[in-house]
Amino acid sequence: MTLAERVEAVRAKIAAAAREAGREPGEITLEAATKVQTSETIRQAIAAGITVCGENRVQEMTAHLADNAYEGAALHFIGHLQTNKVKFVVGRVDLIESVGSLHLLEAIEAQAAKAGVVQDILLEVNVGGEESKSGAAVSELPALAARAAQMEHVRLRGLMAIPPVACEPGANRPFFAKMQQLFVDIKEKMDDNKTVIDCLSMGMSGDYMDAVREGATLVRVGTALFGPRPPMGSPR
Ligand SMILES: *Cc1c(COP(=O)(O)O)cnc(C)c1O
Repeated sequence: MTLAERVEAVRAKIAAAAREAGREPGEITLEAATKVQTSETIRQAIAAGITVCGENRVQEMTAHLADNAYEGAALHFIGHLQTNKVKFVVGRVDLIESVGSLHLLEAIEAQAAKAGVVQDILLEVNVGGEESKSGAAVSELPALAARAAQMEHVRLRGLMAIPPVACEPGANRPFFAKMQQLFVDIKEKMDDNKTVIDCLSMGMSGDYMDAVREGATLVRVGTALFGPRPPMGSPR
């Protein structure tokens, strides 16, 4: 299959899962997780209809930006972000999806103020409660959201989650359901004229259909579009 055919195939599955759940397929955006892909592949994905690219690594993203690789699509940052790299991301991406600590939130506010921009963000939730994972604990979420809402240069748009690696199909569905509940809670509490909470980012190649069934508005898909990546840590 060509990349364009894979984009179509993933879209068709998103639409099927949406209809099954009584949702409109148009409520869900397909984001291409472009880590390790070349600028040329990213351009092909955008030519094939991808409207949002998600990048994990600041260095790769900076190189692709210099290449104008994302032209025609929105750009999101979805990886672990160290505070010393915030300056390379704030104001350069449409959405930072991976804000999981007060420390990072404050650093983004400070940099956005300095740059004179308002940065859209999602709060990343460690919904599986995994020790090894970044993301805010469910119990920390209300305080983080309240703090974000007070900030002048940060605009909270919703939530993001990377659930545990599923050992069998369907295993992550309860985590997605939990995220949907947190999303609705936060929406009820915070939606007003100033804050529009409209983004729930969850679901990857192995489980995006379940994420859509449970209410995802944004799914982040890499492997199902681009094929397998080299193992982490191998030379690139
Ligand atoms: C790589 C990545 C994805 C996509 O993973 P696949 O399993 O290849 O679809 C989604 N979200 C994040 C944060 C990622 O790093």
